[in-house]
Amino acid sequence: MKQVVHDVAVLGAGVAGSSLAKLLADQGLDTVLLDQKSFPRHKVCGEFLSPESRSMLQSFGLEQYVQDLRPMSIERTRLNFRYGQALEIALPGSAIGVSRYSLDPALHRAAVVSGVQLYTQTTVTAVNFSDNYYSIETRQAGSAAPKLFRARAVIAAWGAANRSGLPGRHEVQDNKSEYIGVKSHFSGVNAEAVVELYFFDGGYLGISPIEGGRINVAALLKRKEFDLEGSDKSILSWINAACRRNPKLAKRMSLAVPTPGTQAAVAPVHLSRKPLPWNTIARVGDTSNMIPPLCGDGMSMALRSAGLCAPLAVRYLNGDVTLAQWEQQYSQAIHNDFDGPMKWGRRLQWLIGLPVLPRLMLAAAPVAPGLAYKLVQATRLK
Ligand SMILES: Cc1cc2nc3c(=O)[nH]c(=O)nc-3n(C[C@H](O)[C@H](O)[C@H](O)COP(=O)(O)OP(=O)(O)OC[C@H]3O[C@@H](n4cnc5c(N)ncnc54)[C@H](O)[C@@H]3O)c2cc1C
Repeated sequence: MKQVVHDVAVLGAGVAGSSLAKLLADQGLDTVLLDQKSFPRHKVCGEFLSPESRSMLQSFGLEQYVQDLRPMSIERTRLNFRYGQALEIALPGSAIGVSRYSLDPALHRAAVVSGVQLYTQTTVTAVNFSDNYYSIETRQAGSAAPKLFRARAVIAAWGAANRSGLPGRHEVQDNKSEYIGVKSHFSGVNAEAVVELYFFDGGYLGISPIEGGRINVAALLKRKEFDLEGSDKSILSWINAACRRNPKLAKRMSLAVPTPGTQAAVAPVHLSRKPLPWNTIARVGDTSNMIPPLCGDGMSMALRSAGLCAPLAVRYLNGDVTLAQWEQQYSQAIHNDFDGPMKWGRRLQWLIGLPVLPRLMLAAAPVAPGLAYKLVQATRLK
């Protein structure tokens, strides 16, 4: 039997892949979207959708799908160091908190309505090019036989993890900056319209209100420092260890009750990877550029890269540009838009790691919110 050759295959159905697949299908392309996981699933993420993310969701026709999830609105950021007063910064617009458990399936629904063929529990194991099309080898849950997809174009959206056998392993520049990411939902505490950040030796933890009046807690912890703590390596014990390092956090979480089944972890998380928008094939989202999670803008960057890639993919498939022109124009667009925010994001990450920062902030108290606002703005997409 002759196998179908799709126009385009998008590999990975997180925020970047799902939104990209929708944009491509909206242009009438025969689009397949593949993901190794079954959905819904919990994922390590602060679950804070910045004002920038929201305007992109709107321009992609996705805002209503997200509003239907009844997200919590967020107006301010509050920074809590171990000592001294909290620093409160207004956000440049209205942000929202919504779990990835609900968000990713909502984006899938939108993609399917646009005509995308979604295959979950389908792990991509190899991508090859011959005879003018790509062959995508996959392993599907519950089936011993590998399944092959064919497409005229392929775009990687498989997130930050290194994948052996797939095009373009990330270059890791610095093993010292290796982190573990953990998350859990909690109830029993007041969910304010604020995204809270708590800093301590060896990492930081964010609290964001999400749908249903619960909070999402996500922490990024330096592996070396937190490896030393106890033999119980459960996700909640990592979060408790973080609470012990900041008295304000311990107080805030004292009445919090973890929601069973919402815990997730990811490791290693490398914060100093070189951007890689193209390696044999186009790459969108975290696999292309990963801004330090502290900036709370990873999803907006994932959406922006999808928005930059989609029109070029359409032009390539219509024969208006060559593959080399697609690569050149997409890589250029990514550098133009992302280099500035990425540079400032790395600076912010470095600054937060300085032990003297709380004292500096207190000394600069009269102007601190203005300074902090400017610094945060520098990490944002324009
Ligand atoms: C601790 C932490 C907190 C964060 N907080 C925030 C925040 O508050 N706000 C924010 O905007 N960003 C935040 N981020 C960043 C944000 O989570 C990412 O930027 C975003 O998820 C990137 O989306 P993506 O689609 O590129 O990747 P992902 O969402 O990771 O999606 C990739 C998908 O590819 C699939 N996949 C991987 N390999 C394969 C394969 N071989 N075959 C098939 N499928 C595959 C995966 O299953 C996954 O579903 C945070 C990150 C961390 C680590």
